[in-house]
Amino acid sequence: MLVETILKEKGREVVSVAPTTPVAEAAKILSARRIGSVLVRDDGGGIAGILSERDIVRGIADHGAASIAMPVSALMTRDVVFASPADTLDAVLAVMTERRFRHLPVLENGRLVGLVSIGDVVKRKIEEVTEEAEGLRAFVQGAG
Ligand code: AMP
Repeated sequence: MLVETILKEKGREVVSVAPTTPVAEAAKILSARRIGSVLVRDDGGGIAGILSERDIVRGIADHGAASIAMPVSALMTRDVVFASPADTLDAVLAVMTERRFRHLPVLENGRLVGLVSIGDVVKRKIEEVTEEAEGLRAFVQGAG
């Protein structure tokens, strides 16, 4: 299965905020949308960074209560790693495990076309492995 299959099922929406958005506002969005990260996009639509719940926790640890009034640009990761629609689930799981993050925005020809989380990928991976096991069981029973 490929990343594009996940995007077809879950949709291509990527929840985004401006770099000047206060961290408190971003936290409200994460909570209301039940997601773990937002993409940070500048006025022209360019990708400025990614802010995950982990960055907010780190911000509170480093700056205390003052962190929630800071702009997301102060806490976000600027060097964003992307997936491609043609990537396999195993390839994106390897990147997420090695780099220790749980979100990958998806770029196609330089254009943002979605975002996959580790939850999206693991869910499909379990389905894939279950189907494979059922196929093998049916094959063995048929042969027996
Ligand atoms: P996460 O596990 O996705 O909540 O994020 C852990 C850390 O990795 C945070 O500092 C995020 O800003 C950062 N991060 C998350 N996703 C990405 C990504 N696709 N590219 C670069 N950094 C990321």
